[in-house]
Amino acid sequence: MRKNTQDEERIVSPSEQPDESELSLRPRRLREMIGQNKIKQNLMIGIEAALGREEPLDHVLLYGPPGLGKTTLANIVANEMDTSIRITSGPAIEKPGDLAAILTSLEPNSVFFIDEIHRLKTTIEEVLYSAMEDFKLDIIIGRGPSARTLRLDLPKFTLVGATTRAGMLPSPLRDRFGIHHGLELYETEELDLIVRRSADILKVEIVSEGSLEIARRSRGTPRIANRMLKRVRDYAQVRAQGVITREVADAQLKLMGVDQIGLDDFDRRYLIAIIEQFEGGPVGLETLSAMLGEERDTIEDMYEPYLLQLGFINRTSRGRIATRNAYGHIGAPYRERGSAQTDLEY
Ligand code: ADP
Repeated sequence: MRKNTQDEERIVSPSEQPDESELSLRPRRLREMIGQNKIKQNLMIGIEAALGREEPLDHVLLYGPPGLGKTTLANIVANEMDTSIRITSGPAIEKPGDLAAILTSLEPNSVFFIDEIHRLKTTIEEVLYSAMEDFKLDIIIGRGPSARTLRLDLPKFTLVGATTRAGMLPSPLRDRFGIHHGLELYETEELDLIVRRSADILKVEIVSEGSLEIARRSRGTPRIANRMLKRVRDYAQVRAQGVITREVADAQLKLMGVDQIGLDDFDRRYLIAIIEQFEGGPVGLETLSAMLGEERDTIEDMYEPYLLQLGFINRTSRGRIATRNAYGHIGAPYRERGSAQTDLEY
């Protein structure tokens, strides 16, 4: 996903920051992973069955906002299958030859993970089709009338594809995944457990109100919860004898411009733009993107999922609408609108 600096600088950005190593906090086994219970149960059955048949697991498509555990799950699948993993991303595969080089060198029954799979080029998707379906690679040799196709056998593998939007995948690609799972934002109780687990790994002392405070403000996203924990740990070390209490968490998060429910300056500007400049909406995403100086995709993937979950905005066919809750949070007087609010969501 393309990011720009506004998003990269936010403590509440769900995208991975350049200097952020997440390795040590990443759960390695299904039983270590917190939340996403339905997905875990389904994967556990699929993995056990595949292991019993000594076959690779069916290809898995994971979709949902960034920071919820798609890469983590791909690694877990490899660990549970007791096999290796190759990791790449859609934009990193430039030529069909790049993909062929990876596919031919995979260990049998291993996991091949493609992040941002919606950004694969069409020519590369086409190579992937026969690889996914028959574990064959079609190579065209020569040009013009003398060109011929050579079919190579590939080792069997499990493709795990991750995307923020399943809707952006062409259906021939989407249909070749036997297993589809959508990841949802986490509940506060789950994030609380994630923060406590991470604090344990980082060997930082945290009281239960402290972890709950971080959980409440981390926008349903484990990556943000872990990042907040690390910043709050610094504050605790310098100002509070190393213990994270509710007050310590609150002080540091306030300092970083994160409010009681996890909104930052950008979210507030977004809501105020809809409420004050467009009388609550509907307003198109393009317009918001131009007004706020942020890319359309970034707004849609990074900011809106949480605002939607809070029930602060609705997406309608005519644009975004701020709800009564959003007015309440911003402290603006609510005005009833006409028919716009009853528009169907899309
Ligand atoms: P995505 O690939 O969806 O952007 P990641 O798998 O990279 O997200 O997860 C981001 C970070 O959040 C990981 O490093 C991991 O530490 C943490 N994380 C994600 N999901 C969980 C979970 N269910 N339990 C504990 N930690 C998690």
